[in-house]
Amino acid sequence: MNIDLVILGGGPAGLTAGMYAARARIPSILIERGQTGGQMAATATVENYPGFVDPVLGVDLAQKMEAHARKFGLEILYTEVSTVAKDKDGFVIKTDNPDAVRCKAIILATGASPVKMGIPGEEKLYGKGVSYCAVCDGPFFQDMEVAVVGGGDSAVEESVYLTRFAKKVHLIHRRDELRACKEIQEKAFAEKKVSIHWSTVPVEVVGEKDVTGIRVRGVKTHAEETLPVSGVFFYVGLRPNSEAFLDLVETDSRGFVVTDQEMRCSTPGVFAAGDVRAKVLRQITTAVGDGAAAAYSAQHYLESLSA
Ligand code: NAP
Repeated sequence: MNIDLVILGGGPAGLTAGMYAARARIPSILIERGQTGGQMAATATVENYPGFVDPVLGVDLAQKMEAHARKFGLEILYTEVSTVAKDKDGFVIKTDNPDAVRCKAIILATGASPVKMGIPGEEKLYGKGVSYCAVCDGPFFQDMEVAVVGGGDSAVEESVYLTRFAKKVHLIHRRDELRACKEIQEKAFAEKKVSIHWSTVPVEVVGEKDVTGIRVRGVKTHAEETLPVSGVFFYVGLRPNSEAFLDLVETDSRGFVVTDQEMRCSTPGVFAAGDVRAKVLRQITTAVGDGAAAAYSAQHYLESLSA
C-alpha cells in the first residue's frame, strides 16, 4: 500500500489526527494493533473531558471518537507494526501483514503502557489476580479485598472504581501524600472502603495458583505485613510504546518521543501526538490537542513536498 499519511495508534491522539486528516482530504490510514480508544477505553469513567457534564464511560467516549473520525472517511487497519524505517521516498512500515505500507509522512500516536514493578510474584500471578486494568478485571473481585499500588491519578481513581465490586480496597502508596489531583483524592478520602497505606511499598505478590495476599513494607518503619487480598492492581506509571521507532526519531532518556510545539519530530515528515510524546501533562484533552496539531503539521509538510 502507498499512501500519503499513516497514523500509528488509535487512542484519542490518533483518532483526532485521523479525523483532522480526513477532513483535510489527505489520503491517510490509521493503524491500530488492538481496539481503538487506547488507555481511554480501559478507563472506567471520564470526568474531565470538556462538554461531557455527566461522567462518560471511557469505552463510550472511545466509540464516539472513532465514529466521529470514520464519519469523515478515516480508514482503520488493524495490525501490529513491527518496524518503521526511512527510505529515499519516505517511510516503510512493516506490520503483521505481508505487504509493507509506504507513506510520505507519519504521525506516531502509539501511546503508553503500564509500567511493571518487577517484584516477586507479579509476573507469575499476572492474570491470576495481578492486573493493570481495573475496568477489565474489577468485576472478578466481587466482595473480595484487593490492593492498588500507586498514588497517581490512575491508582486513586481506579481504587474508587474498584469499590463497586470489592469489599475493601487497600491503596498502597510509597509517600505520605498522593500525586493524584485533589478532586480525585477527595473522592478516595470520602470512600469508606478505601484504606490508604501511606509510606508503604509492596515487596511481593503472594500466592501459588492465585493471589492470596500482598506483602508490604513500611518505608519509615521497615515493618512488613501481608495484606489478605485476592487481587493486586499496579498503577505505578507509564512507559512509552516507542520500541518500533527508537532508531527513527529522537527520544528522551525514558523513550518518550521528543517533538517541537508543532508536534514535529527530529526526522522531517514524522510527527508525534499523545502519551508517547515527551511532555508534562498526559490527559485525553492534551492528547486530542496534540492529534489536531500533528495532523495540521503533517498537512503542511505534505503540501511542501509537492510545492
Ligand atoms: P503517574 O502519574 O506517573 O503516577 C505513578 C504513581 O506510582 C506515583 O504515585 C508514583 O509515586 C508511584 N510509583 C512509581 N514508581 C513506583 C515504585 N517503583 N514503587 C512504588 N510506587 C511507585 O501514573 P498514572 O497515575 O498512571 O498516570 C499517568 C498519566 O495519566 C498522568 O499524567 C496522569 O495525570 C494521567 N491520568 C489522568 C487521569 C485523569 O485526568 N482523570 C486519569 C488517569 C491518568 P510518587 O507519587 O511517589 O512518584
